[in-house]
Order: sequence, then structure tokens, then C-alpha cells
Amino acid sequence: MQAEYANQEVNQILTRTIGQQIKLAQEGYQTRSAEMGFRNVKITRQNGRKATVMEPLEPEASWIRAIFELRAAGALSDEAICDKINAMGYKSRIMHRRDKNTGEVIAITGAKPLTPKQLQRLVAKPIYCGVRVGKWTHGQPVKAPFDGLVSISLFNRANHGAVVISGSKGGDLSIEYGQSRKHATHLNNPDFLLRHVVMCPKCGKPFWASKSRGKSGQYFGYFHCARSHKSVSISQSEFQETIGCYLDKLEAKPGFLGLFKEVVRETWVAKNKSRQEEFEAIDKHIKTLELRQENILDRITVSGSTLVQKKLEQEIEELEGTIKSAKKERSGVALVEDQIEQYFQRAKFRLEHPKDYGLAASTKGETVKTWQTIFAHPPTFDDLKSGTPQLTLLYRLNHHIGCDKKQMAAHLSANWNTFVEEVSLFL
Ligand SMILES: [Zn+2]
Repeated sequence: MQAEYANQEVNQILTRTIGQQIKLAQEGYQTRSAEMGFRNVKITRQNGRKATVMEPLEPEASWIRAIFELRAAGALSDEAICDKINAMGYKSRIMHRRDKNTGEVIAITGAKPLTPKQLQRLVAKPIYCGVRVGKWTHGQPVKAPFDGLVSISLFNRANHGAVVISGSKGGDLSIEYGQSRKHATHLNNPDFLLRHVVMCPKCGKPFWASKSRGKSGQYFGYFHCARSHKSVSISQSEFQETIGCYLDKLEAKPGFLGLFKEVVRETWVAKNKSRQEEFEAIDKHIKTLELRQENILDRITVSGSTLVQKKLEQEIEELEGTIKSAKKERSGVALVEDQIEQYFQRAKFRLEHPKDYGLAASTKGETVKTWQTIFAHPPTFDDLKSGTPQLTLLYRLNHHIGCDKKQMAAHLSANWNTFVEEVSLFL
């Protein structure tokens, strides 16, 4: 009789605790161990009861934020993002696997570098933008009672449409999966790589790509977009033809490359000479600033007034900022001779075979990189059709100026910093 009573009580307690856990989960509280990038913290709620929330845990939180930013930027493949995050020191958490009966640790796992698969799992977790979705919320998104690591908008951009969280004015959240998962499957489809570099003319965002079956039973590809505007759809063949046609027009004009090389050398010599003088001036300036800092420090130690001390400390801090920015200027990018040589070796093929070069890449990352060396901004389909995209300096000079040495030199000199940046894209 007593045993039965005890059993009943255990059941009641369990029901109560589990019920309480479910309630907490439904309100967005944390009911299990903290996700990567967070740690659990106990708080006391207004009703006096305890609950668990999460707060950022460094350095993991920085890795997670970087993952979202890089993925949203869309310039790198998941593999390349993993390389970057691993270089930041990423290691998975160390887990102790225990024997179920004795509780003894039987295996230690973890401390592994980030893989694309794990990255994709992490980036799809709504908790990173402070939203809880789970079994106990019945798949409904609930705003967690603590902040995420990224904003909802960054979360959405990083997920490329595979998970979309949106909020209504009343504060209710909704979550949608994969309305564009089918688009996501074309992410690295070699037939549709151009969708990452040619933008929709209506909204300026990347196209989606799909295949559909025609009357003959054959599949036809097309590029399309309908992000809150009237649907735009272009057949794959028209798309590719238009792009090929435009790239063909970028072919080097006779004599251009030789002349351009000469102009680059001359400009480089001139710029380097004036840079030397500029460096000397900056060095001198830094010296003066540092001296002034020392002077103030001396004055702080002798001053008895805290008010004066505070003011002087503030002055020192301001000087520190100025010194830092001067030093940054000092270390600015300079071009060395070898880089110019390499640049021209690469530019030769690219400019002589622009179509082959522009369409040769076999991954999303490579395609984006290639196009960055041709176009100063990602062109829209209409830009390419009308022949008005913004080109990088090399292609701009070839296309618009041709072999007029004087104009070429003036243009290059005025845009030298841009040129230096573009050379680094080429290498
Ligand atoms: Zn669009």
C-alpha cells in the first residue's frame, strides 16, 4: 500500500517537473545544455521561480557571428568559410561520453574543426537570432527571453531562403522552410552558376534557377526571380547567350596590353617616389604626437586635481586614436614589382579570352571571384544586355579608352588606389 503511494508520488513529481519544463520551453527559456556560442545562466523570474537563459560565450560567439556574416555576404563557398572560421581557432566542444551504469567517462570526443555540414547545421538554428523553435513550441517560433547573437535579418540572409523568419507588426513570429530549398539545391549546380553573379534587374538580388519539362519531355532551365515584384524569368539559353555576347566585347584591343603595362610602370615609379615623401611626413607626424603624449603623462603624475587628471587622460586617449590612424595610413598597401609582373601574366589570358575566362569557373566561389575581377559591381541581367555594367579598371580602360596613352595614364593615376586593390583581386 505504501509502495503504491510512493510510486504515485514519484509520478506526480515527474509530471509536475516535466510539465514545468515544457512550460518553460514554450516561453522560450533554455531547458538543456547551452548551444555553441552560448552558456547557460540561472535567473529568478518575477514570480520568484528560477529559469535558465543563455548569454554569449566567447570566443565561440565570435565564430558564430562570423559564420553568419560570411554566409550572408555570399562571396565564399561553405568550404572557404570553414577555412576562415577554423583559422580563427574554431574547435567543436569537448564532450565526455559516460557509461550509463557507472557514470564513468568512457570516451572524450570533440575538439574538431568546422566542416561544411556542421556549418549548415549551425546556421539554420533560429536560437542564434533569439528565436526558439522546437518540439514543445509545436514548431512555432517564440521570441526567447534573451538576445541571440545575430539579428533576424542577418539570420535570414545567411540562410539564403532555406529558413525564413518573419515578424508581423503584432509581434507574432512566423517561420518558413525551404519555399526555396529547391533553389538552394542549385547552389553549386554547374549549369546555373551564373545566377550568383548576374543580378535580377528588378531587385538587384541573385537569381533563382529551376528546370522544367517541356512538351517534348526535355528539361529546360531558366533563371527567375519574384521577390516582392512581378516575376522575371529568362531562359537558360538566352541568359547564357547574352552574357557570352557581352564578355566577347571585352576582348583586348590590339596593342592595349603592351601599352597598359608601360603606363602602369611609369605611374608606379611616380607614385612610389611621392609615397616615399608621404611616408616621411607621416613618420614625423607620429613622432610629434608621441612626444606630446609623454608630456601629458608627466603632467598627470604631478597634478593633484582629479579633474585635471581626468582631462589629461582623455587627451591622451584622443592622441592614441590619432596615432593609430596615422600608423594605419603608414602601412597602407603598396604594390611591389613582382606583383605587377604576375598581374600582367594573368591579365593577358583573361583579356584575350574574356568569354572562356568568365564562364570557366566550376564552383560558386570561383565564379564570384572571377567576376569580381571583371565587374566593379555585380551587374544585373539588363546591364549586360544593354552593355552598361560597371567594369573594373583594366576592362574599363580597354573598353572605353583603348590605346590613347595620355588618357590612359591620366585615368590610371587618378584611380591608382583602386588599381592596387584590383591587382590584389587578380593575384
Ligand atoms: Zn528580383
